[in-house]
This record gives sequence, structure tokens and C-alpha cells, in this order.
Amino acid sequence: MAVVEVVHLRKSYGPTRAVDDISFDVSDGEIFGLLGPNGAGKTTTVESVVGLRVPDAGAIRVLGLDPTADGPALRDRVGVQLQESALPAKLRVGEALSLYASFYRTPDDPDRLINVLGLAVKSESYFRELSGGQKQRLSIALALIGRPKIAVLDELTTGLDPQARKEVWGLIERLRQDGVTILLVTHDMDEAEHLCDRVALIDAGRVVAIDSPARLAERATGGKQVRFRPSAPFDTTVLTQLPEVRSVEHNAEWVTVSGEGDLVNAVILALAPAGVAAHDVVMSSAALEDAFLALVGNHDELTDGTVAPAPTGPVRDREHRAFQEWRSWSPRRRAGAAAPPRAAFRRLLGTEWRLAVRNPAALVWGFGLPLLLLILFASLPGTTKPDKSFNGLSFFQIYLPVLVALSLALLSLVALPMPLASYRELGVLRRMRTTPVPPSWLLGAQLVLNLALLAVVALLVIVGGGLSSGAHLPRQVPGFLLAFVLGTVTMFAIGLWVASIARTQRAAGAIGGALLYPMMFFAGVWVPQQVMPSWLRDVSQLTGLGAAVDAMQNSIEGHFPSALPLVVMVVWTAAFSWFAVRMFRWE
Ligand code: ADP
Repeated sequence: MAVVEVVHLRKSYGPTRAVDDISFDVSDGEIFGLLGPNGAGKTTTVESVVGLRVPDAGAIRVLGLDPTADGPALRDRVGVQLQESALPAKLRVGEALSLYASFYRTPDDPDRLINVLGLAVKSESYFRELSGGQKQRLSIALALIGRPKIAVLDELTTGLDPQARKEVWGLIERLRQDGVTILLVTHDMDEAEHLCDRVALIDAGRVVAIDSPARLAERATGGKQVRFRPSAPFDTTVLTQLPEVRSVEHNAEWVTVSGEGDLVNAVILALAPAGVAAHDVVMSSAALEDAFLALVGNHDELTDGTVAPAPTGPVRDREHRAFQEWRSWSPRRRAGAAAPPRAAFRRLLGTEWRLAVRNPAALVWGFGLPLLLLILFASLPGTTKPDKSFNGLSFFQIYLPVLVALSLALLSLVALPMPLASYRELGVLRRMRTTPVPPSWLLGAQLVLNLALLAVVALLVIVGGGLSSGAHLPRQVPGFLLAFVLGTVTMFAIGLWVASIARTQRAAGAIGGALLYPMMFFAGVWVPQQVMPSWLRDVSQLTGLGAAVDAMQNSIEGHFPSALPLVVMVVWTAAFSWFAVRMFRWE
């Protein structure tokens, strides 16, 4: 029974036809290899098989399902190891496995897999401390943690030393004994010959041949050869009439017989009745490599162990747009697929928190700076005295919303987009797309974490700061809450937009930073809005953060925020959410 069927698959990236016409099927329990030179279209093919890419033409069925439409139902049953997909630098090996185990309903035991893959001593190590081979083994472990029915493994042993490579091969054979079907991408002939029941040779986006490695070799190179020295002269027709024999050459004292099947036995048995013995018999069977060169042409890169160069430029396919995927997770599309375990979200949240503590820059700024300023201003003489320019309130009271805005700006423009951009850059979001948990949960976990931090800062600043200095709490509580919530939504929408346009973590930092300083200025971090020239104050109130501060200050003074800042925030939110949702990409 075929568990994977690919029929006339075609896929282009702009003008590049990556897959031209590929058809094959993989039987239940089989180890099937896609073998071909770099750039042949193997990765594109398996990425289509696992639903990461939408084919331009052709049909794919995996376990009877369509990977594009039924992705959620498939991801629980197909384990995927992708090329060039990293994890956050400070995630520990054990944590990564437990996290990914929580994504599946019936996961394998992380400790068992860690042992099987020889990672036990590294269980407490950060991802960044692993060698290339250990990273590769962890990646395989993550593909297997959900106890998949089908494992799709791309360049399985790239970067492994010979010993580790043998161990991984052993693991793959044991997996097959457990009934797992394996679809393997490789450009390593040894690997294909050693592991695969059948191999599809791929060249320039097309299947050149499909067969067992041994038969492919025979087909391409005329099969086997037997060389021997006959004990006496004989009539070669004794051999040429054998069904196994294709040709016989007689050179000096050596006879060379080419053919297929059980050639040696057939030759010896045919010679015996003529009273001829074969001495110094040398057998050579064609290797897959010969077949490869014969069928595919002489590609130098075949044996040099390099991996296909990463494509340059952004991937502009519609399938990487988060927007498309969010639609594919709609309840209608999810029909037949069980929802991912809820515990996965708690795990994600816990992991994001630990990672935030291990990279504390964002925490120190977003959390520490506003609190430090709070203490500083509270202890300065004169800041808590009522002042005419602040409508009879003190500078300190006026400044409390500014401190909240400062935290809001740092968390939304720096602490949120930088990890998200880095997750995209590292391939974390891409890896999550192959699991039952959609990558939007990771986005959600980041949002929840930063919102929680903001809520704590806001509470400490407004309640703690207000009470400790004898300043009033906001007199207009509903107005204050409305202003705070709208301001938060506005700034986080801008943060998501930054995450969606920045290709790298550095770019996210640069864009976030470039927005941060003018935003902080207009919010009155350096000069309170109340003492700005009136034209500057007008401009401030048209910025998202300036409007939020103005509305919060209104409520502290005791009246409901005026309409203008509220409308300004709604407009900013609508614009930036629209752009963020449209532009956010997983890759
Ligand atoms: P293989 O896995 O056999 O090395 P790939 O499927 O990675 O082959 O690539 C096939 C062709 O498609 C190559 O020419 C490659 O440069 C191109 N390609 C692959 N991925 C992308 C992409 N995301 N954007 C543009 N071109 C790509």
C-alpha cells in the first residue's frame, strides 16, 4: 500500500523551475530515497510532500490526505527533519525535546530518544554549544518525538563523522523495524545504497529512474562482471547461451563475462561439464555511483558532501505568508484533525520566559528602566509639588503615564519583534509549521509574555508610584483603562509590523530602535507634552504613543480622554495590524 503518492509534481520559484515533473510512490514500511545532485529539486519535492510548499501542478497524497488542505490532520503523523533549521541559541537540549513532545498527543519519551541518539551527556547543554553532528541528531530526535507514521528526513547525515553516521543509519533501520515509513533526501550515494529499499534518481527536476539501488546499478552499467582464468581453452558459446550472460571477452589468459543475476554460479556450473575450472575469480558489481553518473551525468558536486546553496533573496511564495496559513487553521480546514494539546501553549510560554531571562537585555530595559526612573523621580525634591503648568497636578503625576509608555515602547518595539525575527531567521517558525502546533502559537506566547510584563510594570508604576508619593491614582479609571488598552494594542500592532518586515534579528533591532526614539520623544519622556510648543504637542498627539500618553494623562486629571487621541490610536492599530497580518511570513 502506498502511503505517499506524488503524481506529476511541478513547482517553480519565479523563473526557476525547481521541480519539473516528479512522480513516485512510497510503500508502507519502506525506506525510500530521493537521490540527486544539488539543486535537482529534492528538497522542494519533500517540502511539498509535508505541506510546506504549495505545488503549481500535480497531486500529492500522504496517508490518503492532501498535505496542503489537510495539513493539520497530517502533522501529528508525519515527522520532519529539515535542512538548515536551528533552534534558539540558549535553549537546552532536554528543554527542546520536552517542548516538542508537548506538541503531540502520544509523544515518545524524550529521555529515551536522547539516549538513543547519544545526546544524554548534552541534555543540559544549550543548543549553541552543540557540535554540528549533535545538532543534526537533535534535529532527527525532534522529527521522531511525535512517534510519526512517516518520517521525512532531509540530508540526514550531513555534517556527521563516519561513526555518528553509522549510528544514525542503525537508528533508521530500527525505525523501519518499528513500522515507520521513511522518505529520505540525500546526495550521498553510500547512504542511499546502504539504507534505501528503493531510490528515485532526480536530475533537473525530473525523475530519471526509480528502482532498488542494486538494480539501478545493474541497469545503468550492464550489471555484474566476472573475471577468471580458465584451466583449459573452451568454446565461449557455452557461456554466451546462458540467460544470465550478456557478453564474453577473451583477453590473453583472462575471460571477462558481463551479465546479471547469479552470474558467478551460472558461469561455474556451465564450465564444469566441459571440464574447465575457473581460477582467480574476481567479481565486480556495479555501484550506485556508476549508475548515477551514467544516468544523471557527471556532476562534480555529487560526492563532495556539500549541501545545496541557500537560495538568495526572499522567498516570495504565497505559502509562506502567515496570512494564508492562518486561514488554513480555520475550523473548517481543521475538520478531522484533533486540536494540538493545550499544554503545548503553557510549555511554549514557559520556554519563552526562560529564554527571555537568559537574554535579559529586553527585560532590563522594558522592566528595569521605567522602575528605576520611577524611584529616581519619586526621590527628587519638587517633583511631587502641584504645578500650574500641569493643571495643578505634580510633575510626578503627569510623568507616571510617560513611564508606562516607556515600558510599552520598549516591550513592543524591541522585546517583541527581535525574538520573532530571530525565530524566522533561524528556521524555528518553519520547523513549527511541520508540527501539530501552528507557529502562530509562538507568536501568541511572545505576545502574552510581553503583555504580562507590561501589566506588571503598569501596576507598579501607577499604583505603587501613585500611592508611595501620595499622588492620586487616576481619577477617571475607565478612561485610563481604555487609554492604556488602546495604547497597548496600537504599540503591539506596530511591533508585529516590525517583526513582519525585518528579515533578521539585527534588522528588527534597527527598525525597532529607529522608531523607539522619536516615539519616546513625542510621548514626553524627555520633555513633557505640556511644556512642548503647541505645534509640537499637536504632532505628538498624532503619534500612537503620544496619543496614548495624552489620553492617560487626561484620565489622571479626572476627565474622560478626548476623542482625538482615541481615534488616532484606533487608526494606527487598524493600519499596522493590517500590514502586519498581510506581510508576516514564516520564512
Ligand atoms: P535540492 O534539494 O535537490 O538541492 P532544491 O529543491 O533545494 O534542490 O532546489 C531546486 C532549485 O530551486 C534550485 O535551483 C534552487 O536554487 C531553487 N530554489 C530552492 N528553493 C528556493 C527558494 N525558496 N526560492 C528560490 N529558488 C529556490
